[in-house]
Amino acid sequence: MADKLIKAITKDGFLRIYAVDATETVNKAQKYHSLSAVCSAALGRLLSAGLMMGAMLKGDDPTLTLQIKGDGPIGMLVAVSDSKGNVKGYCANPQVDIPLKPNGKLDVGGAVGSGMLGIIKDLKMREPYIGQVPLQTGEIGDDLAFYYMQSEQTPSVVALGVLIDRDYSVKCAGGYIIQVMPECDEQTLSKLENSIQNMMSVTEMLSNNMSVTDMINYVMLGFDTEILEESDVRYNCDCSLDRMERAIVSLGKEQIKEIIEDTGEAEICCHFCDRKYTFDTNKLIDLMKSAK
Ligand SMILES: [Zn+2]
Repeated sequence: MADKLIKAITKDGFLRIYAVDATETVNKAQKYHSLSAVCSAALGRLLSAGLMMGAMLKGDDPTLTLQIKGDGPIGMLVAVSDSKGNVKGYCANPQVDIPLKPNGKLDVGGAVGSGMLGIIKDLKMREPYIGQVPLQTGEIGDDLAFYYMQSEQTPSVVALGVLIDRDYSVKCAGGYIIQVMPECDEQTLSKLENSIQNMMSVTEMLSNNMSVTDMINYVMLGFDTEILEESDVRYNCDCSLDRMERAIVSLGKEQIKEIIEDTGEAEICCHFCDRKYTFDTNKLIDLMKSAK
């Protein structure tokens, strides 16, 4: 079944809500990268956030890049998404395994470590927007909430969750983001603060077979909420031979010549889907002609 994303708003316009079931999306990432359990959890949270934050973008063909650079064993994490429900991502060390936390949960914060969260919004007009904040816990949800507060002055609840099965497949993955709009009154704000205290976790909701609509209804219980849009989302890598050729051309004449003399061929592996592109000597000579 296709993964779903829902955008909703309270009728007074005070709160905006995004929720996603990204189970298939994260399963695909797990298969492409043979992710360990903790890597599936970390990258899965980032991909879920990427889908929701992509859905917030306006403009013509915008893209969003989330980048986590921590000093933990997982290394860099990247998720790239758009406003049409596509996301792709990778982490530097996909097979890293670290002990569970004392409460038996996967230690995403420990795997990520401390460092920076970077956000690049390319709205294809002007220069891209680039924001950066220090990681708070490395658990990703907290870090994104901090980013929204710090860089966009938008208080937000960011809840993300990934549940891994014994065979390393992804049992469920997804999340929700609630954003407090500037015109929101004190009463609504304190009502929201209270209601999120005793809420089920995202993985509890999804593993209880709640749909994305059920999630919204549950999270927004007591608020007059209207669903604005429901759409399909997916893991989608848009790499192509053409793009890889351009990457080689951009190396420049000198460097392509060196590759030809050294090995006589080149192989480029796509970070996002592990597809391999190989170029033999004849092809490299061809590409060298169009390089500077
Ligand atoms: Zn690819």
